[in-house]
Amino acid sequence: MTNPIDLQFDRDHLWHPYTSTTAPLPCYPVVSAEGVYLQLEDGRCLIDGMSSWWSTIHGYQHPALSAAAKAQIDRMSHVMFGGITHQPAVELGKRLLAMTAEPLNKLFLADSGSVAVEVALKMALQYQQGIGAAQRTEIMTIRGGYHGDTFAAMSVCDPVNGMHSLFQAVLPKAHFLPRPTTGLHQPLSQQDAMALEQGFNQYGGQLAAVIVEPMVQGAGGMRFYGAAYLQKLRQLCDKHQVVLIFDEIATGFGRTGKLFAYQHAEVVPDILCLGKALTGGTMTLAATLATDAIAAGVCNSAAGVFMHGPTFMANPLACAVASASLDLINQGQWQQQVAAIEEQLQAELAPCRTLDTVADVRVFGAIGVVETKRAVDVATIQQFFVERGVWIRPFGKLLYIMPPYIVSSAELRQLTNALYDALNNERCFTISDH
Ligand code: PMP
Repeated sequence: MTNPIDLQFDRDHLWHPYTSTTAPLPCYPVVSAEGVYLQLEDGRCLIDGMSSWWSTIHGYQHPALSAAAKAQIDRMSHVMFGGITHQPAVELGKRLLAMTAEPLNKLFLADSGSVAVEVALKMALQYQQGIGAAQRTEIMTIRGGYHGDTFAAMSVCDPVNGMHSLFQAVLPKAHFLPRPTTGLHQPLSQQDAMALEQGFNQYGGQLAAVIVEPMVQGAGGMRFYGAAYLQKLRQLCDKHQVVLIFDEIATGFGRTGKLFAYQHAEVVPDILCLGKALTGGTMTLAATLATDAIAAGVCNSAAGVFMHGPTFMANPLACAVASASLDLINQGQWQQQVAAIEEQLQAELAPCRTLDTVADVRVFGAIGVVETKRAVDVATIQQFFVERGVWIRPFGKLLYIMPPYIVSSAELRQLTNALYDALNNERCFTISDH
């Protein structure tokens, strides 16, 4: 019998994500997790509709991932990557390069998604220096994005719902195109075509890179947009010699119904960021992939090397688990699983459209989103969900379900039913907009 979790200590001393330490919202103590279930300290089990922030695609305690972790920890859990290499990094590298687009041929293994984005932006800047275009120092992106919480990453998050107002004085300035209006499976909208042309005409000569989340804008608003936008973006980046970075930290490894979201558009970026589901959600690891041309430019810059090297770069434990996760992906079941989840989310979230509280319902791959008209009351709705045996964590006016791919249809129904019932319950909403 382990000691009870000291919730008072947690409340008094531990910061949680985007949370006040002086007036924290309640936290639910989890003692273990298996399959799609989180087990609370009081014995209740919750179906995880979040995949622990979109990472636990195979479910918790998958035997293959646990076995890989245990085998690796008995050999070596960590060793520096400067001047040393190891089998877990090489094996992971081989798998990642084999499953991504052919031109992506160089791999940087970082320790979190935000760092992978920093690495991508630094690579683009050093590349431009290396090819004699040192004047290209600026970054362009689109509104509604989210790329992480470190400074360069924050600078390309949505300027309104991101953290720009708080850190304006120190954030690097990025250029923002309007949020794409081209819908999924739609031709490029006139508006988007004009905005893209205008952006490149105005800033094309100063830009080092453009960074976007392809097809799905995640934490910046859970919005989907069409492949045609990415095709136009690729053309313009080529025309203006701008590096194209795709942040697939949220969308990579099957979540949208393709292994990578860029495959919907058949467009290959110059730099690709991966993270979250890379280790099947077991531990933190991220990857930044680049083409040979990018790598050559970087290494031709004044430094002659790429100037980044985290302590836990290519952590062997994380790499070993990531390879085991990619082996599961390569078995291919995710395709049927994600297609089935998509179909069920479409059918079971559709009734939410009839509710007065709901502004929009959208589904793409294994992502189901309900946008409400008013912000929900997080503490109340969280309690409501826990009482219903599910774990769904809303933000602002967004409630979404992104379950592990192994979720059964009965478990998914429990999630969608709970969501519908919460949206139909006035108690779950705050009195006024904010
Ligand atoms: N990019 C995207 C698209 C993300 O969704 C996230 C995380 N939500 C990040 C970057 C940052 O990743 P991390 O939280 O691992 O730093």
